[in-house]
Amino acid sequence: MPVQVAIVGAGPSGFYTAAALMQADETCRVDIIEALPTPFGLIRAGVAPDHQSTKGVSRAFARTAQAPRVSFFGNVVLGRDIGLDELRGLYDAVVLATGAPLDRPLGIPGGESDGVYGAAAFVGWYNGHPDFCDLAPDLNTAAVAVIGNGNVAIDVARVLAKTPAEMASSDLAENAAAVIHKAPIQDITLIGRRGPVEAKFTNKELSEMGDLAECVPLVDPAQLPAEVDGDMSDRDRRLREKNLATLRGFSCRRPDEKRKRVHFLFYARPVEVLGDGRVRGLRLERTRVEGDRAVGTGEMFEIPCGVVISAIGYRMPPLPGVSIDERAGVVANRDGRVEKGLYVVGWAKRGPVGVIGTNKADGDVVAQQITEDMAENAAGDGRPGGAGLRKLLAKRGVNPVTFADWLRIEAAEVAAAPAGAPRRKLIRIKDMLAVVAQPAKAAAKS
Ligand SMILES: Cc1cc2nc3c(=O)[nH]c(=O)nc-3n(C[C@H](O)[C@H](O)[C@H](O)COP(=O)(O)OP(=O)(O)OC[C@H]3O[C@@H](n4cnc5c(N)ncnc54)[C@H](O)[C@@H]3O)c2cc1C
Repeated sequence: MPVQVAIVGAGPSGFYTAAALMQADETCRVDIIEALPTPFGLIRAGVAPDHQSTKGVSRAFARTAQAPRVSFFGNVVLGRDIGLDELRGLYDAVVLATGAPLDRPLGIPGGESDGVYGAAAFVGWYNGHPDFCDLAPDLNTAAVAVIGNGNVAIDVARVLAKTPAEMASSDLAENAAAVIHKAPIQDITLIGRRGPVEAKFTNKELSEMGDLAECVPLVDPAQLPAEVDGDMSDRDRRLREKNLATLRGFSCRRPDEKRKRVHFLFYARPVEVLGDGRVRGLRLERTRVEGDRAVGTGEMFEIPCGVVISAIGYRMPPLPGVSIDERAGVVANRDGRVEKGLYVVGWAKRGPVGVIGTNKADGDVVAQQITEDMAENAAGDGRPGGAGLRKLLAKRGVNPVTFADWLRIEAAEVAAAPAGAPRRKLIRIKDMLAVVAQPAKAAAKS
């Protein structure tokens, strides 16, 4: 009997796992179960809307989804429409590829104030993720603080800094564009606990900040060390030296060069969001780096800002029936193995680190494990797989969105795109399902 595998989550890690399984076992069947009617996880909802070339990998994922032994079950939520125990009963193996979609809390006084947003929510909003399309952030402020020193923080700063013309070839959600491009933002401060050498920006993203039409990057030269010290690989040293050189270039720029400014502020950790229920500033403590850690010096200072966006990492939500490693914010696992017949890949396995391609290795490992485990246990033992899932969902009145349905949603988005843009994103599930329903209605009439 073919081995039946369910992968929960249609992000990069889910698709890499499906592709690896197709290769590892010539007969196995794979069903990809996804909460949204749209596939591709953070490629659609996380990767910046003005970085369209990064999203190109989804074309390979689309080919995987359309392979004869793969099916897509969109708009089906594990924990709402189907339980994990039920899924494990239907399939020989279940792979959790659900990502780490929750913001890590800021955890400082005032962190719950109006005007404080987590990057998962904020990025989801401007990328048209249905869960965040009603976030309606109030950006009526001259100054925004972005906490974090990785590419997510820099993406947020860039999207706030770019002009409508610079975003014209992006798929920034229309409702978000209307708010961002009307906002009177002049100063964006990117705050890192550690120094410029420890910052996690990739050089491409950092350098891009120097080439914006109406925004100049600034950094205090006194914060830039003369050289990169410490033990590290040659590759790491080269990358850090490159970032340092880029920041040196920024330190020579003038604040009055352009209408907006992005300030890189290092060696500072937020200790309190100021304001009386609504953000009006941040209190920070200066730090120094000891080893690889930021240590507070006791010296405090304040910066004014009307919005705080924290990009300090992501974690998993609770998933019924799954034990979570609370410290790491991931599914408790041993290199992808959770329990017999249950596996985990991607950010749900490792946490929010690495690039899209990093998830490929997770898929390869788990495909290998499933193949070995199935050989050992003489399964597939005739589990119903997708046929059983369809029957169960139908009983519950749940109509999965197929990959062909998604292609219709995509076609509608492409057809509605403004000139120069790749698509006009549908941001509400009901509107996506209306597109799916259209041809069926037309067919019924004819
Ligand atoms: C803001 C941001 C920008 C990024 N930019 C880049 C970049 O430019 N380049 C790059 O290489 N990497 C980038 N990354 C990293 C990259 O997006 C991740 O490495 C990758 O998406 C992780 O894949 P994943 O499959 O583990 O999780 P995800 O992509 O999050 O996919 C998880 C999927 O599971 C689904 N799901 C969750 N819970 C359930 C449930 N209960 N039932 C059914 N389905 C569920 C979700 O809807 C989602 O589709 C970025 C990440 C972020 C957050």
